[in-house]
Amino acid sequence: MCGIVGYIGGKNCVPILINGLKRLEYRGYDSAGIGIINNSHSDVIKNKGKVSLLEEKIDNLNLFANLGIGHTRWATHGLPNEVNAHPHFNTSKNLFVIHNGIIENYQTLRAGLKKLGYKFITETDSEVIPHLIDSFLTKGNSLFKSVQLALQEIEGTYGLVIIYDKEPDKLIAARKGSPLVLGIGEHENFVASDVSAILAYTKQIVYLEDGELVEVYRDKFVAKTIADKEIQKEVHEISMTLEEIDKAGYDHFMLKEIMGQPESVCNSMRGRIVLDKGTSKLGGLEGVVEKLAAAKRIIISACGTSWHAGLVGEYMFEQFARIPTEVEYASEFRYRNPVINKDDVIFFISQSGETADTLAALREAKIRGASVFGICNVVGSSIARESQAGVYIHAGPEIGVASTKAFTSQLIVLALITLLIARRKDMSLVDGKKIAEEMQKLPDKIAQILKLNDEIEKIAEAFKDSKNFLYLGRGYNFPVALEGALKMKEISYIHAEGYPAAEMKHGPIALIDENMPIVFIAPKDSTYEKILSNIEEIKARKGIIIAVASDSDNEIDKLVDYTIKIPDTIRMLMPILTVIPLQLLAYHIAVKKGLNVDQPRNLAKSVTVE
Ligand code: GLU
Repeated sequence: MCGIVGYIGGKNCVPILINGLKRLEYRGYDSAGIGIINNSHSDVIKNKGKVSLLEEKIDNLNLFANLGIGHTRWATHGLPNEVNAHPHFNTSKNLFVIHNGIIENYQTLRAGLKKLGYKFITETDSEVIPHLIDSFLTKGNSLFKSVQLALQEIEGTYGLVIIYDKEPDKLIAARKGSPLVLGIGEHENFVASDVSAILAYTKQIVYLEDGELVEVYRDKFVAKTIADKEIQKEVHEISMTLEEIDKAGYDHFMLKEIMGQPESVCNSMRGRIVLDKGTSKLGGLEGVVEKLAAAKRIIISACGTSWHAGLVGEYMFEQFARIPTEVEYASEFRYRNPVINKDDVIFFISQSGETADTLAALREAKIRGASVFGICNVVGSSIARESQAGVYIHAGPEIGVASTKAFTSQLIVLALITLLIARRKDMSLVDGKKIAEEMQKLPDKIAQILKLNDEIEKIAEAFKDSKNFLYLGRGYNFPVALEGALKMKEISYIHAEGYPAAEMKHGPIALIDENMPIVFIAPKDSTYEKILSNIEEIKARKGIIIAVASDSDNEIDKLVDYTIKIPDTIRMLMPILTVIPLQLLAYHIAVKKGLNVDQPRNLAKSVTVE
């Protein structure tokens, strides 16, 4: 999920690797390392924390090499510490590997390699790669062949670069699911996960596709498929600036993250759905599944967007797992002397895993003897470490302060947990399968909604000067109304409130006049008829309605002012789709108002104060 850079040529690779890694720093990462090979000296140097710390460490060593690889890690498996940082190596320490992504079958591979005598020193999934390649090298295969054979056994996603001191004239790069490019220079070549890492040296770029691997020498490169078919690759001259490329061509990280949701949602599910059994497999909860299924009550504690995800979780857990569920603001939970019983299970949700209120609530719950489980994005974060068990959402680094992709990934994880518990209770195989199948369709449906970007931008233009917004939804979409309103407040500084649609007549209806835009989340589900009545009530008071509605709904257009039509899914998953237009609406309004979308005033990405 993080950064890769590699070099082969006539220059000293060390400063090139360090500069490349610095260019990748914006992505957010937890440790960094380089591996170099030259005639007299091969070495791996790694460090926890910033690239500048790695640089300091390297400065005193006077390293020189014409071949090297560098990595910034964003941990997915194993704590972010020096040992777990990349490059990883084989037992003889003469084969170095950097990896971005997740190896899904690493446990099986690890067990097999252990039987062959391989010793593991890290907690990462990635460490199986050097050992697996080594196992083919020892059978007399070339490096390229060994990598090809290893990749035939590896399941999951990767951007990989490999160097080996017995074949010091090349590096090997491979891609599946994680980006990787080659940079072509004069008697030198580069590899990187992101063009920005090498743009200072070359603008001649070759984009690798999934399933391709390439042997890179100083003066040439040979690309093949994993099945050994040679492929001709085109060299592209790029004209983008560094700044543009960091954001992958998007104007803001927030937009990049919104647009990246088909992929991040896919990553959150990867290797976790067991379709034929209609359930899920969550390594982090393996030891506690029975406890979860037997829970008398679930409490979800979180703040902000994660709290909204928790509310959706409440609907899921109660509907399918049939366990009473309460959702608590972490800040309130801690101070109100909560009643916690020994059969209660408490989930703490936090993107960063460092949210001070949530962490304090977790510590309080632990003192009271509760079972505490974490749902975090950042591996090795405080909440992840201090929880007894948990699940990572694997959304990748989120840089924009207003959370978007972490929310949809949190919902995916909550749905996976629901499947896990419910199938142990009274959910049928047929129902479990249906949910699992619908989950797998979500990335494509999100991609379909993202195509409405221009349409939503036009709606934003019409409402950019509004002073207030009201968001209404029912059932699963009530938390989405809250989340939509929060996005609007956070980045547009427009006062916005979310309500359950039926609550409107108990107060907020007094606010409605011709100046009040109301965003109605109104997909065709079992509450649809009731929603239509609510819409009529608003129209009678001249309110202006923007409806997020089902593709199949031909009636609603006649009733409302603007419609955003999205694909349908089952009710419990609907929030993963309905929230997307609301993220885009808030984003475009903020941009049109000339505001700093990625760093809105007064807000911080990880709220580490109580
Ligand atoms: N899964 C690997 C790890 O946890 C790679 C993470 C990354 O892409 O930075 O070390």
